Amino acid sequence: MSFLGRNTILTFAGIQYKNNMKNNISVIAFDADDTLWVNEPYFQETEQKFCALLEAYVPRHIAAQELFKTEMANLHLYGYGVKGFMLCMIETIDRVSKGKASIALIEASIALGKELLQKPIVLLDQVAETLQSLQGKYKLVMATKGDLLDQERKSKQSGLQSYFHHIEIMSDKKEGDYQKLMNHLDCRPDQFLMIGNSLKSDVLPVLALDAYAAHIPYHTTWAHEHTEQVPEHPRLMTLNAIQDILNYIS
Ligand SMILES: [Mg+2]
Repeated sequence: MSFLGRNTILTFAGIQYKNNMKNNISVIAFDADDTLWVNEPYFQETEQKFCALLEAYVPRHIAAQELFKTEMANLHLYGYGVKGFMLCMIETIDRVSKGKASIALIEASIALGKELLQKPIVLLDQVAETLQSLQGKYKLVMATKGDLLDQERKSKQSGLQSYFHHIEIMSDKKEGDYQKLMNHLDCRPDQFLMIGNSLKSDVLPVLALDAYAAHIPYHTTWAHEHTEQVPEHPRLMTLNAIQDILNYIS
């Protein structure tokens, strides 16, 4: 579908969306990584350094594929976050080197992971201003997945905590997880809007529950979060930037 075609459809859908939302929404939940602050570029930078470490055994693109394979195989055991990623780096080193890699490679990978756990929090443009505009009018929630301690650190360092009524660090973002969150907040699906950069985690499960979703594409997305084309849906809108939500609900 052409860029123009898609925009035209979103405009029509947007009218109905805007009217329904204005009347109903009481809770706005925000994804955090790559919606409120920079995250995926840090992971990709670390992954590139990791693949360089393995060059004696496999070309970089193969190392990247092997690492992703390990991550997918372990997701159900480790969940999301840096610590699981570190274990996956170690397992990948062992597999691609057939157990021959020096312990120095393991040490280097642990150092890469620790570096990732201490990256500064860089807010995306207009995040604080947008939260400020919405605070008091809606119940604002942060809904993020990853390691508990790391997400707590990022949330504290972001300086955004005071905008939020509730911060939920989730082990996954599937329909059941959102249903639990809505139950906890005592809110019906038609009162709930989720805003995030991942169609797979922030949009599709929320629409499936008959709630509202706003997608803000980010320039870099983890392969696991990739999904098919953006669906057309009366309760979904696509935003270029976070502050665009104010055109719809404030
Ligand atoms: Mg995200």
